[in-house]
Amino acid sequence: MPSDFEESLEKYAELIVKVGLNLQPGQRLLIGSPLFGGLTPIEAAPLVARVAKHAYQSGARLVDVIWTDHQLNLIRLQHAPRDSFSEYPAWQVNATLNYLKRGDALLVIAAENPDLLKDQDPNLLATIDQTGFTHTQPIMDCIARNATNWLAVSVPVPGWSAKVFPDVPAELQDAKLWDTLYEICRVKHTDPVAAWQSHIHQLVVRSDYLNHKQYKSLHMTAPGTDLTVGLPKGHIWRSGQLKSENGITFIANMPTEEVFTLTHKDQVEGFVTATRPLSLGGAIIDDLTLTFHAGRVVKAIAKRGDFALQKLLNTDEGASRLGEVALVPHSSPISQSGILFYNILIDENAASHLALGHAYKFSVNKGETLSDDEFAVVGGNYSAIHVDFMVGSGGMNVDGLNEDGTTEPIMRSGEWSFDI
Ligand code: ZN
Ligand code: ZN
Repeated sequence: MPSDFEESLEKYAELIVKVGLNLQPGQRLLIGSPLFGGLTPIEAAPLVARVAKHAYQSGARLVDVIWTDHQLNLIRLQHAPRDSFSEYPAWQVNATLNYLKRGDALLVIAAENPDLLKDQDPNLLATIDQTGFTHTQPIMDCIARNATNWLAVSVPVPGWSAKVFPDVPAELQDAKLWDTLYEICRVKHTDPVAAWQSHIHQLVVRSDYLNHKQYKSLHMTAPGTDLTVGLPKGHIWRSGQLKSENGITFIANMPTEEVFTLTHKDQVEGFVTATRPLSLGGAIIDDLTLTFHAGRVVKAIAKRGDFALQKLLNTDEGASRLGEVALVPHSSPISQSGILFYNILIDENAASHLALGHAYKFSVNKGETLSDDEFAVVGGNYSAIHVDFMVGSGGMNVDGLNEDGTTEPIMRSGEWSFDI
């Protein structure tokens, strides 16, 4: 008789393969990619084994894994030559592209100890990030147009659960994080597959409503925030459910609570204050306020992590402009848990958010067919980075502005204000 934990792990693996990836017979599955820091941590082995079993049972031709031990990042920073941090294992990018270009599926298990590198030289960390962003750009290009079905999920790793639950006894922290993940990923429902289908349906209907409206811009107000965000003509609101170029419907993130679209790179005005800390590489950026004019960040202040913030904004021209706006009700299970996960995959689903950097071409009508220059003309932003930061709260109102100057409420006090 399997334990509760084993049973939940089995259900989690099944959800990943059948609902998240929607793996098709004949596809190959790659688990792990350097994008999003997503090489597969060795601690994920029990989940990977179950995913592989379900993948083969679903008709996968081959399951391949790019493993890592995150301790190696620390050892490198402590012992490698100081001038060597622009070295890069390009084979990992080539391997990922090899799978993506064949239309195979990609699973990313994003999990790291947010404090592992906290005492390391921020200049070296920035060089590593910058080098990584540059090399993984071709993968980002494939992901941004959904060349194939892909999914990002998490598993507890040592140090992470301790960071999330500092007040829980050490021997129980991993179990507590597993339990929370199962909760927010709806694994504990009697029928998790049906629970996901109904959840995704809600998100799809919300995005359909907003697509029909075609607002010219959004006006977000909250304590510390008064921001107008332009939306390009023909923008498309998406939910976590996407369709790949090879015609497979999949869910890109588990958990997912957002509906999102792209922003107009030249039409953002006002100021916005983040409502949750942002964990970026080794750094935590907290108490962040950004002021925008004509789409560009003209003033950026973080009381904590300011160095990492300034580096991030200077990555390239598009790094100081927005690429995404996403709406998440304050009542979402992740928000209600009150837990800060120090993991963007989960935290971004706790609150409405914006992203600095790259806009997804699939967020605009026929976007996948546009060249980078044509995409820029429409208002799409191009950058090597895409960094989400949370701005939503129970105090946020969002209005949609129509072409004729009238406005309509979209959210009041952090909750949807239209019926579906
Ligand atoms: Zn998002
Ligand atoms: Zn995003």
